[in-house]
Amino acid sequence: MVLAQLGGSITRALAQMSKATVVDEKVLGDCLNEITRALLQSDVRFETVRDVQTNIRKIVNLETLAAGTNKHRIIQQAVFSELCSMLDPGKPAFVPKKGKPSVVMFVGLQGSGKTTTCTKYARYYQPKGFKPSLVCADTFRAGAFDQLKQNATKARIPFYGSYTESDPIKIAVDGLERFRKENSDLIIIDTSGRHKQEAALFEEMRQVAEATKPDLVIFVMDGSIGQAAFGQAQAFKQSASVGAVIVTKMDGHANGGGALSAVAATKSPVIFIGTGEHLHEFEVFDVRPFVSRLLG
Ligand code: GDP
Repeated sequence: MVLAQLGGSITRALAQMSKATVVDEKVLGDCLNEITRALLQSDVRFETVRDVQTNIRKIVNLETLAAGTNKHRIIQQAVFSELCSMLDPGKPAFVPKKGKPSVVMFVGLQGSGKTTTCTKYARYYQPKGFKPSLVCADTFRAGAFDQLKQNATKARIPFYGSYTESDPIKIAVDGLERFRKENSDLIIIDTSGRHKQEAALFEEMRQVAEATKPDLVIFVMDGSIGQAAFGQAQAFKQSASVGAVIVTKMDGHANGGGALSAVAATKSPVIFIGTGEHLHEFEVFDVRPFVSRLLG
């Protein structure tokens, strides 16, 4: 179920409930069942969906609501606020400050869109007066440096990498040193991806983080991976201190469940979403407008 369908299904469930003249347990139960079904079909984890049900029921206690209360409205508001809290871990991500040197490290599986997203992120801060720079510490994927170089050149962002050095930690440290000297206030480090979550990747990630002490580790996740999202996000969270998530490919078959699961697994906020292959196809992620848009 793609994102628009998830929103559509929840909106339909709420509209159906609104048609009932009397909101009783059956009407509320039917509405919540429809919402549950829509979330499960969008690959949100069962445990998370169950929590949503419980929380909505806590807000909407039909027995204790005073007569004359607009129950339709209370249910609608409860659903909206539950969807928002699913996406809001309540802990804001680190935000780079202009003129104050920050190091941001990107992690994620190969193909998630990590390298593309590094440049999109740099490009977001550039017009705000930052001096971003890019370090390619991905020595695993052949062509990773060329790709970063190409994107960085297009966006006119200084970059660092090596065709000969095979030690990602050395590249990361050298790049960091170079850009610190050049007064870059936002040094972005692209790390290696792998096809799957494996020990070697996590060990490398841990070592790069130890050597560069990033202010923020961003986990980049393909928004269309469905059920795998929670496990993948959790594995990255356990090995690197992930502080924020960027969900990519939200233009394709992403269903929203990925974003919801990544937040639940990492307890970190989604800060941007990728909406296409081009460098400008990148949006700040704000929970309330996102949920409003989702529900139409
Ligand atoms: P990496 O292996 O994680 O570094 O991934 P890449 O940055 O090489 O991206 C893998 C593929 O996904 C490339 O073809 C990108 O153009 C594409 N891609 C990245 N972000 C997005 C996005 O937001 N939307 C779409 N449709 N494609 C994306």
